Amino acid sequence: MKFETQAIRTQTERTQFSEHSTPLYLTSSFVFDNAEDMRASFAEEKEKNLYSRFSNPNTTEFVSKIVAMEGAEAGYAFATGMAAVFSTFAALLNAGDHIVSSRSVFGSTHTLFTKYFPKWNIETSYFKVNEVDTIEKLIQPNTKILYAETPTNPAVDILDLELLGNIAKKHNLLLVIDNCFATPYLQNPIKFGADLVIHSATKLIDGQGRVLGGVAVGKSDLIREIYLFSRNTGPAMSPFNAWVLSKSLETLAVRVEKHCENALKVAKFLENHPKVNFVKYPFLPSHPQYETAKKQMRLGGNIVAFEIKGGIDAGRNFLDSLKICSLSANLGDTRTIVTHPASTTHSKLSIEEKQEVGITNGLIRCSIGLEFVDDIINDINQALNI
Ligand SMILES: *Cc1c(COP(=O)(O)O)cnc(C)c1O
Repeated sequence: MKFETQAIRTQTERTQFSEHSTPLYLTSSFVFDNAEDMRASFAEEKEKNLYSRFSNPNTTEFVSKIVAMEGAEAGYAFATGMAAVFSTFAALLNAGDHIVSSRSVFGSTHTLFTKYFPKWNIETSYFKVNEVDTIEKLIQPNTKILYAETPTNPAVDILDLELLGNIAKKHNLLLVIDNCFATPYLQNPIKFGADLVIHSATKLIDGQGRVLGGVAVGKSDLIREIYLFSRNTGPAMSPFNAWVLSKSLETLAVRVEKHCENALKVAKFLENHPKVNFVKYPFLPSHPQYETAKKQMRLGGNIVAFEIKGGIDAGRNFLDSLKICSLSANLGDTRTIVTHPASTTHSKLSIEEKQEVGITNGLIRCSIGLEFVDDIINDINQALNI
């Protein structure tokens, strides 16, 4: 089955009522026929739902779809993207292990590396997205995980997944990729050698800004470790959110196609605007890693970054002048969302730290939505011209 068909036809069993659409299984636990059924279920001699912290028909359906879409063997669903990131590391690492990570990772992931993991004597070394030749020099005897996101947030840089896959293989590291910005529709890191793929389902997978969710998929033995850790520590996704997100996946392909079509048009418009210094969009030939993006992505995604002339003040004025686009911290919504990292999400970074992750004072990040594209462009244009 092709992607769109899997997204729609991967489904959990129906009840005696023969629902066409998947029912919502709002139940914390499940009953057993008798003592032997219960014993065999707990002994994992039978595949049976026991308790919704372990599994539930709705989370199983959601996970099965992501597993199929990413070409993985197994997966587990989490309450949030960060629960997926944290639990993956916590399940697989021991005290004294070492991580090599891209410097351009999601803010809370960076905080895990710098503030929390050192408590357990787990240290992280960073490489910059434009200095991948330094990765091998960072690897130590105790390095266990190679970690990256691509495209990156907020500067929309692209890392070569094939290259990362080769380095991980050569040094016997686990390659873990946060594939949130690309979605399983645009990019499948497992094809390039990733062992595990993580998504914040809060973003384009939900796509409508309603629920939080996360998922990790990959090799069965690794997912087994993550599952056992999670079934005891409790970061599970709620059945309701799984039901919403599984429904969302049915339309992922058409939504993401349209997001990308709109984003490319906005990027092309911005490229010729006199108030704009530069535009970064993976499928514009001017993007520094355009060839890599073409190699590993189906389309360019929905995030467009550009630098407005005039720095911090121009960035703030631009945000204040928008009439349709929202100022919000989310991304991947039907609504176009604009942020100014230098004055908001990344304001606490030093100038050097901002440079390391490609954030200039005038950088604007747009998560292009599904509004009629000329309305988005006109709104951005009038705000740039004020
Ligand atoms: C949002 C995001 C996360 C965290 O996801 P939550 O669902 O908000 O916990 C992790 N990685 C990336 C790349 C994200 O954009």
